[in-house]
Amino acid sequence: MIYRQLGRTGLQVSIISFGAAPLGNEYGSIEGDGKRAVHAAIERGVNFFDTSPYYGRTLSETRLGQALHGYRDRVYLATKGGRYDVAAFDFSVERLTASVDESLKRLQTDYIDLYQLHDIEFVPRQTILDVALPTLERLRESGKIRFIGITGYPLPLLREVAEAHPVDTILSYCHYNLMNTSLARVLIPFAREQQIGVINASVLHMGVLTDAGAPAWHPAPTIIHQTAQQAAALARESGTDITTLALQFALQNDDVDTTLVGMRTETEVIDNLTLLGTVPDEEVLARVREIIAPVEGVTWHTGLRENDEPNAVG
Ligand code: NAD
Repeated sequence: MIYRQLGRTGLQVSIISFGAAPLGNEYGSIEGDGKRAVHAAIERGVNFFDTSPYYGRTLSETRLGQALHGYRDRVYLATKGGRYDVAAFDFSVERLTASVDESLKRLQTDYIDLYQLHDIEFVPRQTILDVALPTLERLRESGKIRFIGITGYPLPLLREVAEAHPVDTILSYCHYNLMNTSLARVLIPFAREQQIGVINASVLHMGVLTDAGAPAWHPAPTIIHQTAQQAAALARESGTDITTLALQFALQNDDVDTTLVGMRTETEVIDNLTLLGTVPDEEVLARVREIIAPVEGVTWHTGLRENDEPNAVG
């Protein structure tokens, strides 16, 4: 495993990290309780785990807490607050303060390494700047959380909020992978300059870049799914698969501190970690990128309209 410093936090995090949304059954029911996948990752050097009360409406945190019993001191634990259901957001002082205590209990720990505001595009930015971030600062002083971060989809918003209020990390998803590379242009230069940790999540585009395809809740327009399936077919015919190419492509980006991948099974963990240090077949990659080119960079509407990226569809 290779480790990189997460911004100015001083935490040395594995360059592949474990996204626990699948532990909340967000990608279909998992077999068993997810412990084997979590332990397989830790045994292979993964030391950064990300979850949220939103994933499986607390199921992911509960399962991760159980899986990390006896392993807590070997990992950095990131969770979130503010989002609790598809349309349930609450970034108030009272809710965030209670939320941290609830997460600590489910995660069976007395501190959270990184506490993040979950999907900040769903509320007015002044709520994030005037209420939520100051609340996290107070919680940090209490020792319950060590570092604070923001997460969300529209890159300009993430950047503007981080410009207006110091944060330790930014988690961006679906913005640096085979379908979209705008993270490299819109956010990374700023984050590097400010020494803000960058977590690159959903490099499989939340399941789009897999042979099985994305779950029904996926917000991307149909053309994205269709194009990805054409690319997946080409990858298969060429003796590889789209997931392998997507992971290899994303892992070549040294400017992100960690690449956060959602993994459902021990097999996925082992397969994905085996790809560390491998390079994509350049010819197949070029042909896949050619197929994707017409939809490369397409983003979708999510959250408040005022926070959308300029080219968002839907
Ligand atoms: P992802 O792009 O990582 O894709 C996950 C899907 O890919 C799952 O269905 C998983 O089973 C599948 N997969 C993984 N490895 C595979 C393999 N080798 N073969 C076949 N399929 C494979 O999407 P994600 O899980 O949503 O994103 C990663 C993590 O990032 C999340 O789990 C979560 O922790 C975090 N995240 C945070 C936010 C936010 O804070 N707003 C948003 C998105 C993701």
